[in-house]
Amino acid sequence: METKETILYEAHGNLYLNITNRCTAECVFCIKRYSDGVYGYNLRLSREPTLTEIIKELSGVELSKYKEVVFTGMGEPLVRLDDVLEITKWLAARGMPARLDTIGHAKLLYPERKVAQELADAGMKIISVSLNAHDEETYDRLCAPKSRNAYSRMLEFARDVSKAGIELRFTVVNLPAVDIPKCREIAKEYCADFKIRGYSGQV
Ligand code: SF4
Repeated sequence: METKETILYEAHGNLYLNITNRCTAECVFCIKRYSDGVYGYNLRLSREPTLTEIIKELSGVELSKYKEVVFTGMGEPLVRLDDVLEITKWLAARGMPARLDTIGHAKLLYPERKVAQELADAGMKIISVSLNAHDEETYDRLCAPKSRNAYSRMLEFARDVSKAGIELRFTVVNLPAVDIPKCREIAKEYCADFKIRGYSGQV
């Protein structure tokens, strides 16, 4: 594992952005519980990079080498919504597709804003929402969201994403507590792509 803190890292032909360690949940399967990062990159940040620092790092990269730039990392990118919007616009202006991986608590974080539409207007192409569970009770147990009604508000946000014309994806972690077929059904109902994430921590 590198000791240098990582803002940008590459894997699977994509460029990944790690802009915060803050989050609106405390998932039992979160990577931060068992590792300092992924693919040998240290994702623990002693401080968040500023917007200027992130753009500077991106400017030093040959973007055309990558399929997409993905907001992900060890934290919830939407806690920095305004910066996500600015970076997405910057990428879109350079013809670079952007994807957001999110726990989907946008409506809890920004009840007054139309977050999905703002992301669409900025040029976001794909939003991958962590569905994580087939019902609220399991969701609360696995994800310990910091606000009430997080599961239903996450599903509402997912609807907004599709309505705003952004490609929607749902993901779940392959855990015994998760009813994968039911989650797949939910994804179908929401016309979302469905992806099962692997888990390398302890069950
Ligand atoms: S939403 Fe993601 S970053 Fe936040 S606790 Fe869950 S797994 Fe970790």
